[in-house]
Amino acid sequence: MRIAMVGTGYVGLVSGVCFSDFGHEVICIDKDPAKIEMLNRGEVPIYEPGLEELMAKNVEAGRLSFSGDLIEAVRSSDAVFIAVGTPTRRGDGHADLTYVYAAAEEIAHAIDGYTVVVTKSTVPLGTNRKIKQIIHKARPDLEFGVASNPEFLREGAAIDDFMRPDRVVVGVQSDASAEVMEEIYRPLFLRDFPIVTTDLESAEMIKYAANAFLATKITFINEIAALCERVGADVKQVSKGIGLDGRIGNKFLHAGPGYGGSCFPKDTKALARIGQEHGLPMQITETVISVNEEMKRRMIDKVMDMCDGSVNGKTIAILGVTFKPNTDDMRDAPSLTIVPALVGGGAKVRVVDPQGRHEGEALLPGVHWIDDPYKAVQNADAAVILTEWNEFRALDLKRLARRMAAPRLADLRNIYAAKDAKRAGFEAYASIGRTGFG
Ligand code: NAD
Repeated sequence: MRIAMVGTGYVGLVSGVCFSDFGHEVICIDKDPAKIEMLNRGEVPIYEPGLEELMAKNVEAGRLSFSGDLIEAVRSSDAVFIAVGTPTRRGDGHADLTYVYAAAEEIAHAIDGYTVVVTKSTVPLGTNRKIKQIIHKARPDLEFGVASNPEFLREGAAIDDFMRPDRVVVGVQSDASAEVMEEIYRPLFLRDFPIVTTDLESAEMIKYAANAFLATKITFINEIAALCERVGADVKQVSKGIGLDGRIGNKFLHAGPGYGGSCFPKDTKALARIGQEHGLPMQITETVISVNEEMKRRMIDKVMDMCDGSVNGKTIAILGVTFKPNTDDMRDAPSLTIVPALVGGGAKVRVVDPQGRHEGEALLPGVHWIDDPYKAVQNADAAVILTEWNEFRALDLKRLARRMAAPRLADLRNIYAAKDAKRAGFEAYASIGRTGFG
């Protein structure tokens, strides 16, 4: 199969590289010339474990290439994937479909012979039908198919998720489109991964429903954690106790500072907007969005309380700013709410993150970037763990505490235990949904 991938970001690049590894011939296209130049030099513009090696292997094999020329790349493809961004539209929470429709328009003029136009981007209900209309309007005589193929990969584990998916969802309108999609994913089916074939609308809805459900699960345990703190329960024990129930499951039950990232915040907002537009408010999702905002604000209060009510003039070391470990993605990370509040409160903030600096520098003005956690806490008044990078999971707490002016630790990922912090010499320790001290 010959595949063109329009949009070479986190999803487009990983999908393109993995499809080429299946044996397909793939051209990844991006309108950002700097990105294409980097890729053609063999450099990966994002941080994703294993991606650089897999990309090099498939470029070497002659199955994978990069181009800024959409027309040339799309012309002789069997399938063209749209994997451009669908960020939140300013003002109303709706998904901004400008990039998707612009790509569809460009693709329409480039297609030559039967092609399936596949949307991988997360798009609201009805978008695939609109894409079909756009292409049909531009080229009334053209024979083509459309397919909705939402992506479920997680940044930081993207290759494994793509190669070993829980399921592949494909929304189609015709057998011809279904056959092309089956051929593309055939290498996976040989290993028996389930394919869920649906109509276009159901595939679009599956993606939003999945993300809203996961965001709800996280927010639920975060709210339970807040109550645990009030009543003296331990949310880690509670998570274990409920997660062993097969109907609940143990995943996404880790209490933390609130969800962030490139998907949950924007997709929950988009689903809420879809509900409003159809006269059926998504009350659970709307509540999740506001509780999650509150969670992030609670984190600011936690740090303030730990610093005797004010951070003014105090030095705070922040460990981790990306929205989760193993990615450099800073989109909607909780750090973007928490760190500016501390800077605004007069704190001198030092930040250490294994991959976040490149993106984070512009987003977090007024902080000092340090490359080592022990250096970052030198003479600090508090340390705050915001992202559970491996680098922060086995810190020498004694060494950390010894270096600080006031040894206080806000462990917002529940990595450590209060008793260990006490033994290491911390005078204050706070976490999520568990009793601390100080
Ligand atoms: P991204 O912002 O990292 O990448 C989008 C890329 O598309 C950019 O490089 C941009 O330059 C390019 N682009 C935009 N318009 C173009 C055009 N007309 N022609 C060529 N290139 C164009 O976005 P992403 O994180 O990869 O997300 C893409 C989509 O996948 C979104 O809808 C997102 O919701 C969805 N998704 C993302 C993830 C994730 O973990 N990031 C997971 C599942 C689904």
